[in-house]
Amino acid sequence: MNQTEAFHERIDEALHNDQMRRNFRSALSGIQAKREQQFPDDAQLQALREQARAVRANALVKQPELLEQLEAKLTENGIRVHWAENPEQANQIIADILDAATAKTVVKGKSMVSEETGLNTYLEQRGIEVVESDLGEFIIQLAEEPPSHIVAPAIHKNRQEVAQLFHRFYPDLPYTEDINQLTETARQILRDKFAHADAGISGVNFAVAETGTLCLVENEGNGRLSTTAPRVHIAITGIEKVVEKLSDVPPLLEILTKSATGQPITTYFNMISRPRQAGELDGPQAVHLVLLDNGRTRIKVDEQLLDTLRCIRCGTCINYCPVYVQLGGHAYGTVYPGPIGIALEPQRLGIDQVGSLTSACTLCGACGQVCPVEIPLPKLINRLRAEAVNAGREASPLIGRGALRNKTEATSWKLWRLVYANAFVYRLFALAATRLRWLTPKKLGGWTRYRSAPKPAKRTLNELARQKGFRSE
Ligand code: SF4
Repeated sequence: MNQTEAFHERIDEALHNDQMRRNFRSALSGIQAKREQQFPDDAQLQALREQARAVRANALVKQPELLEQLEAKLTENGIRVHWAENPEQANQIIADILDAATAKTVVKGKSMVSEETGLNTYLEQRGIEVVESDLGEFIIQLAEEPPSHIVAPAIHKNRQEVAQLFHRFYPDLPYTEDINQLTETARQILRDKFAHADAGISGVNFAVAETGTLCLVENEGNGRLSTTAPRVHIAITGIEKVVEKLSDVPPLLEILTKSATGQPITTYFNMISRPRQAGELDGPQAVHLVLLDNGRTRIKVDEQLLDTLRCIRCGTCINYCPVYVQLGGHAYGTVYPGPIGIALEPQRLGIDQVGSLTSACTLCGACGQVCPVEIPLPKLINRLRAEAVNAGREASPLIGRGALRNKTEATSWKLWRLVYANAFVYRLFALAATRLRWLTPKKLGGWTRYRSAPKPAKRTLNELARQKGFRSE
């Protein structure tokens, strides 16, 4: 099965799951309403977006120097820095750190980068127990599913589904659909894990070069516990998360939390700058940071694609995407779904692997309008679409360009161009199409998969215009 067929199969499955679509609609409209309440003044929102965009753009321009500065500062603070070019290297580095620390149990905070590397499976195959401690991640770990959304990984599940899942895994506990009780159950289970884990793994939202500080935004306190209770803390992040100064963080934090969940401020904001010092009562004895490239440097060489790396993973573009709300995250089949997934994943993994994702976009522009760091997502998606069917001659870092070129489609468009470029031929074509409309095929490939075939009108536009009395050539 090729990537397009596999994608269509997942789409079919998603479109036949009414319950899931209901869950998405209700969850996303709630998040949208909360976000909009946080930004009552459009001028203020635009000013904040501009500030956040500038901070991220500046960090990307200066990235090589900032990463060097970050490494030097972190090392000075006592944090070990590791560089990984690809997921295999990142996983190996983390496994080696755990082996050296004889760590057998790990609690994890939420980290999309570790999803990129498939870290959980890798560690579990090496006999290490990994427990996701974010409530949403904990739920989907029980369900053995990948995240469906980058901020709300279990957004596709409703209360009843979560209750049934908990009951399956913890049959001794009384069945409940009460959200508070379900949360309490998870809290009790995880508390023991935090207390006994050998190591904690987390992601990073911003890594500050100036001070060597790892910033972690979270709501449940699980991130704080994962990074302080076990004796070893390993943070993993993409190299694009570096920012220049501590003063760059407040605007990013403000727009991140307001955009992502509609909260004025996040419940917990952790700033990790060193391991436990002599005389301190808690905190890990060792802190490591794994900086992953995984295609980011390749993306960075292209002036337009570079914009993708401004992303602060707030998930807003996903929340506003009309395609995502119908399909949900799993249909995309990649770590990052929705508009940011469509823009990022073909760049990261290659058009020849996941270029079909670019078709899951109506180009309505909603994602570009809400993105807090002003990533021109529709433009990027359009560029990827063009490169998916056309290898072109100009330089491009995209892997698998032209992989989705379809000869029949390309010939049809060429013919159409010839018809459209000549008024006489076009009229002849329009006349034939209207008079022979009964010959219109009922099936037109992918187009009629979910729609009926369009039928030409009975009369051409020219004829109708003449009938109305218009005379012009
Ligand atoms: S592309 Fe923009 S809106 Fe989408 S997740 Fe990234 S920062 Fe948020």
